[in-house]
Amino acid sequence: MPIDLCFDWSYRLAMNSETGRTNMADTGRHYAAIPGPSVMPDRVLGAMHRASPDIYEGELHDMVAGLFPDLNAVAKTNGKCAIYACNGHGAWEAALANTIAQGDHVLVTATGRFGHGWAEIAARLGAQVEIIDFGKSAPIDPDRVADRLKADRSGQIKAVLATHTDTSSSVRADFKDLGRAVRDTGHPALLMADCIASLGCDPFFMDDWGVDVTVAASQKGLMTPPGLGFVWASEKAQARRSWMDRVSPYWDWVPRFDPDEFYQFFSGTAPTHHLFALREALNMLVHEEGVDKAWERHEKLASAVWAAADHWGQDGAFRLNVADPAWRSHAVTAASMTSPDATRLRRWTKAEAGVTLGIGLGMAEPGDPARDGFFRIAHMGHVNAHMTLGVIGVIEAGMAALQIRHASGGVGAAAQVLARS
Ligand SMILES: *Cc1c(COP(=O)(O)O)cnc(C)c1O
Repeated sequence: MPIDLCFDWSYRLAMNSETGRTNMADTGRHYAAIPGPSVMPDRVLGAMHRASPDIYEGELHDMVAGLFPDLNAVAKTNGKCAIYACNGHGAWEAALANTIAQGDHVLVTATGRFGHGWAEIAARLGAQVEIIDFGKSAPIDPDRVADRLKADRSGQIKAVLATHTDTSSSVRADFKDLGRAVRDTGHPALLMADCIASLGCDPFFMDDWGVDVTVAASQKGLMTPPGLGFVWASEKAQARRSWMDRVSPYWDWVPRFDPDEFYQFFSGTAPTHHLFALREALNMLVHEEGVDKAWERHEKLASAVWAAADHWGQDGAFRLNVADPAWRSHAVTAASMTSPDATRLRRWTKAEAGVTLGIGLGMAEPGDPARDGFFRIAHMGHVNAHMTLGVIGVIEAGMAALQIRHASGGVGAAAQVLARS
């Protein structure tokens, strides 16, 4: 959009031209509490505000070389990492393009919409896809996966695909158990993890947990604008790649892992400004806060949201999607209320309080009125206690304003969680 149009648009938003008054939500800072793109730190945005660098030599080359050790520190791996100019769907495709040939059998474990999304990509690439669907509120059962692998005596299944945090349901898988279960079968299938929502938010140890391929994207826990996808590969996954007859050149991770020339890192021009942004985000996450501390922060903020929700729900219609806290994501929380109150609430928080909440995704079909009963609260990435308390307070105010049945006092319950050290 041309800059003058931008000004015109934001001016009109802020000022009602007939009354000359501003809305309450138009002052202060707007907060998009949606599960991606997440809040971008000013430092990350500021790092992009610079002239184009020389892409042939010098600073950019040194900077890019330094990204990989830090990305590995986030995924807790000594494997190889490739950075693609793409979103999460691209990272999904990259992982499969390097390891799954047409006709190969893949086993997908689904705990929400995103598990099915990855399965669709595999099917469209020509894989034979088998889905174990655990529903929308239950975790992956590693024993069922292991039983299926044990029954596959001829080793047809080439990979097990699983989502760490399914952002639609906010179900989190126990990858430690899943990795152990897959390993104990002795089956040769690769274990692949979609960590797009969870990376930097929920504890994840790629190597220790026996994960062969991990995928992520820039715009969630990594606090960077959408546009970068990441794929990590273990030695086993790299060996599988070497048996592939043909891999589409853009997705091929081999030149990206070990480029002869700088441009091969990105199969063309580097996404320079996204990389500057990522550099700053990794400074914050890896070198200043520390990945383990970031996990602790996410756990605490998520617990505050759950405490508020439990309080509201005790004599009302507010309900968290995942009953057992052990299976809840620390990055995002999916909730429901009587339809259409969730949609009314989202509209209220945005218009009256400057908070955008996430829509319910994959919980009801498009066109089904039940869809208006679901919403999501993101607490991923660049968030702290006052932001999370703010969102909780705004939700409570909205429920009161709209006369949605709930027990008031959720903010206090959340504050008590945050007060515990
Ligand atoms: C966001 C997300 C995706 C999709 O990422 P896009 O960048 O929208 O393509 C896939 N899986 C999970 C778990 C996600 O949270």
